[in-house]
Amino acid sequence: MLANYHTHTVRCKHAKGTEREYIEAAIKEGFKILGFSDHVPQPYPEGFKSGIRMDMSEIEDYTSTLVKLREEYKDRIEILIGYEVEYSDRFIEPLLKEIRKFPLDYLIQGQHFAPNEVDGFYVGAKTDDEERLKAYVDVTIKGMETGLFTYLAHPDLIHYTGNDDIYNRHMSRLVKASKDLDLPLEVNIYGFVDGRHYPCDRFFKLASDMGAKFVIGCDAHAPEILKKPGNVPGLTDFLKRNHVEYGDNIVKIRDCK
Ligand SMILES: [Zn+2]
Ligand SMILES: [Zn+2]
Repeated sequence: MLANYHTHTVRCKHAKGTEREYIEAAIKEGFKILGFSDHVPQPYPEGFKSGIRMDMSEIEDYTSTLVKLREEYKDRIEILIGYEVEYSDRFIEPLLKEIRKFPLDYLIQGQHFAPNEVDGFYVGAKTDDEERLKAYVDVTIKGMETGLFTYLAHPDLIHYTGNDDIYNRHMSRLVKASKDLDLPLEVNIYGFVDGRHYPCDRFFKLASDMGAKFVIGCDAHAPEILKKPGNVPGLTDFLKRNHVEYGDNIVKIRDCK
């Protein structure tokens, strides 16, 4: 594993460590590419404040800090500037308009809400409601189909507790879309280390049976999460039993500009 494209910064209000600390940790771990993909600021209506992302006014500092560090470290590691983006019909266009004013290399899709953070529900909350599972899959596929995203982060963030038949029926639509669009699906290291419900066997067994492509993402909310799978206890077993292959973990960057 030579690359990680899923890294946060303190600006998202729930991560720690300076950009420099993340970069130093990535070099120490032997990465050749480090992509920053902090939670994108959203052009939400007046009065709605998200507690999990930077404010619009912080884009300038985020990007200029990374531009400086990219230059400073260019002989040791390649730094990419990106965001983890929530797809929604309602906000995607104004969001793109704002972030395209500043340096930008790539976007990953991380679908935490359906159909969006303002009008919808958090998909990581436990549910046995098929409608919610369907809503998650529908909005996620719509985002994937925009062609903006380099990959799909934590595809199994939806915390559906119902039976396997229903789960597989909907999630196989998402896997099929990833194959048709040649969009890798992420195994999320942070979720694994933190003992969350994702990455889960149920999803990755389905996805590998269907022949999906995978990418490993640290989803680093602290520099010490920047680890290769072999250095994360239990993760190699998880990947093996689900037949997840990732090679050097370098993915094709999609143009989002
Ligand atoms: Zn995420
Ligand atoms: Zn993330």
